[in-house]
Amino acid sequence: MNPNFSICVYCGSRPGAQAAYTEAAQQVGDWIGRHGGQLVYGGGRNGLMGVVAQATLAAGGRVVGVIPQALVDKEAANHDCTELHVVQTMHERKRLMAERADAFVALPGGIGTFEELFEVWTWQQLGYHNKPLGLLNVAGYYDGLMDFLRSAVAQGFMSDWQMDMLKASTQAGSLLPDLVQAAGLSARAQLDDI
Ligand code: AMP
Repeated sequence: MNPNFSICVYCGSRPGAQAAYTEAAQQVGDWIGRHGGQLVYGGGRNGLMGVVAQATLAAGGRVVGVIPQALVDKEAANHDCTELHVVQTMHERKRLMAERADAFVALPGGIGTFEELFEVWTWQQLGYHNKPLGLLNVAGYYDGLMDFLRSAVAQGFMSDWQMDMLKASTQAGSLLPDLVQAAGLSARAQLDDI
């Protein structure tokens, strides 16, 4: 069965220092699965990436993993994925992930996560795609980044319209439906949505 929507999740290949990060990753995967969605992600078992994937599968969702050959061992390729694509380069990985997604969301993570988030953001501002982009600010992890971005606007290096492209929220339960709706799609209704 075709998924109702496809969300690309960027997040840490490590779990981070607080249980709240793992809990949020679990919630995101669970929400995607329960609402008839598909997760697109980097295809590994490590860290928050593995948590999101296993939670999506456990909730009945599809999972598309895309991993470069060179990272199959390092990031523990997840053979439980509904589709696991082993590609040659990081560029192929990012292109395929972006193609397969209707929307993007970043959870806490490190430089790999930052790079992926900023890349799809810059692609959107250049008009290469028009897919909604979200930032899940778990336990204040991205407060410093948001402050910095606002200072970039105040200092004249960014515009409000660029900031507005990034939907930031502390709540997965409101951010994810907003992204699906902004993509022009609908999530399968659940009793606990009401
Ligand atoms: P990190 O947030 O650093 O834990 O990395 C999260 C994911 O981003 C991992 O799957 C990394 O392989 C991936 N990653 C690291 N560098 C890049 C990059 N330049 N482009 C795309 N993904 C990357």
